[in-house]
Amino acid sequence: MTETRNCTVLVVGGGPGGYPAAIRAGQLGMDTILVEGDRLGGTCLIRGCIPSKAMIQAATRYEETRKLSEDGEMGISISGESKLDMGELVAWKDGVVDKLSGGVGSLLKAAKVEHVEGWAEFEDAKTCTVRRQGKPALKITAEHVILANGSVEAELPFMKFDGGTVISSRDALSLAQMPEHLAVVGAGYIGLELGIAYAKMGAKVTVVEAADSILPAYDGELSRPVAQWMKAHGVTVHLSCKAKGVVQKGNETHLEFETKEGEIESARADKVLVAVGRRPNTQGWGLENMAVDMDGPFVKVDARCATSMRNVWAIGDLVGEPMLAHKATAQGEMVAEIIAGHRREFDHRHIAAVCFTEPEIVGVGLTPDEARAQGEEVIVGKFPFAASGRALAMGGGTDGGFVRVTARASDHVVIGIHAVGAHAAELSGEFAHAIEMCARLEDIAGTIHVHPTLTEATGEAALAALGHPIHIPAPRR
Ligand code: FAD
Ligand code: NAD
Repeated sequence: MTETRNCTVLVVGGGPGGYPAAIRAGQLGMDTILVEGDRLGGTCLIRGCIPSKAMIQAATRYEETRKLSEDGEMGISISGESKLDMGELVAWKDGVVDKLSGGVGSLLKAAKVEHVEGWAEFEDAKTCTVRRQGKPALKITAEHVILANGSVEAELPFMKFDGGTVISSRDALSLAQMPEHLAVVGAGYIGLELGIAYAKMGAKVTVVEAADSILPAYDGELSRPVAQWMKAHGVTVHLSCKAKGVVQKGNETHLEFETKEGEIESARADKVLVAVGRRPNTQGWGLENMAVDMDGPFVKVDARCATSMRNVWAIGDLVGEPMLAHKATAQGEMVAEIIAGHRREFDHRHIAAVCFTEPEIVGVGLTPDEARAQGEEVIVGKFPFAASGRALAMGGGTDGGFVRVTARASDHVVIGIHAVGAHAAELSGEFAHAIEMCARLEDIAGTIHVHPTLTEATGEAALAALGHPIHIPAPRR
């Protein structure tokens, strides 16, 4: 037997794109259903952003206490050995995830959104059937459909995830035991965030990257402090190398890779974390029956996130780069408002990104090289965290970090702000806000930044671009 239900807005997917879209649609008074086949929260909350940041935090805490028990720091030392229990760490991380996933359920309820548990399968653009556990199937017909089906880990065809040796990021967040040797394929966001966390927790980490630099999405000036940290902490990096497969050498498991020169080398690996990107989740749920146009592997949308099918909308990882949670959320809220009759468009320029490596990298807008490649004449101001009282007092400032502001030479409008350094992630709000408000260098320099905070470095970088920083020597003109 199948039950039927009509609604105004049907949201498919309860990740950071789908659940805010449903909440906003509910707030706007529309009869809204959200269908989620797994747990509420999606990739980000259940097996992505939140558990990875929890693990990074635990790894950092462990590394700090290990330092205190070995050499001491800031006049503080502890006697006895610092210990890490992987089972307890994973249980703590799961507790954080459970709390947040439960919170999403409460928020949906408060917004009067009906949450349907099960996988939606579409027979046409506005009709899907959800097969539910222990309940009759539910056929839903909607006036508007918001697709927020997200993405899944990309696999290497010759080295498929097996949950044993070859693992995905989702497996890496729930390992029962600390691997002695971890090999990471891909020096992008996931490979380095988790690779560095495992190095802090004591694993011997080897990274194999196909490109000729780590974090190829960032310029060399920004990724250099991360490369230096890895070198100083015994993480081996092989650039311009391609993973080939896992081989057994006696009692040892190794990751084999091919160098630029065509030589085959290997690194010992109890686990191999493959982090070579993610692909949109477009298969197995009837997308082909919805007659929407595609843009390569992604669902094609316009600036309002409208697909080629009337009243079918798509958001988040399903529609392309950047695959970031806050982009998905912003698109979800926007689409709900458009359906309710608001005039909105999505602007990609203000999406900040943070890489939670050691040290952290944060950026929004154009880098100086990107701006010049677009024909802009730019002025650039940089301020090192080594000259920031707050950075030094927090035990940072020695990692080569800095804030860099890039502005158009003609009118001083800021078109990019980037930083690398310990705790730099927390600067992302001011950076995004400045770009969103079309701030000029004078606006940032004229904003009185609290002393002593890391944000002073942003003000000083703007002053440096204007030629008169206070806490570093002014550049010669
Ligand atoms: P998803 O979060 O993937 O959600 C899609 C949901 O749809 C899933 O819950 C899925 O079960 C459901 N679904 C799919 N098909 C159906 C169907 N047919 N029926 C019912 N339900 C369905 N981004 C950041 O911004 N910051 C970070 O720090 C960060 N860290 C990350 C760390 C890791 C390890 C990973 C893997 C990702 C990270 N990301 C981060 C990326 C972020 O997780 C994604 O960009 C974000 O989750 C995308 O949101 P979404 O709503 O588009 O899709
Ligand atoms: P990524 O695109 O960041 O990095 C993948 C890396 O793998 C690239 O450097 C690429 O050159 C390399 N690579 C590809 N094939 C290879 C091969 N055969 N051998 C060796 N190297 C190879 O992808 P990711 O790290 O898997 O992350 C996926 C997405 O998730 C990111 O693009 C990002 O959007 C999102 N994410 C964001 C955050 C954050 O915001 N802090 C954190 C994690 C993930």
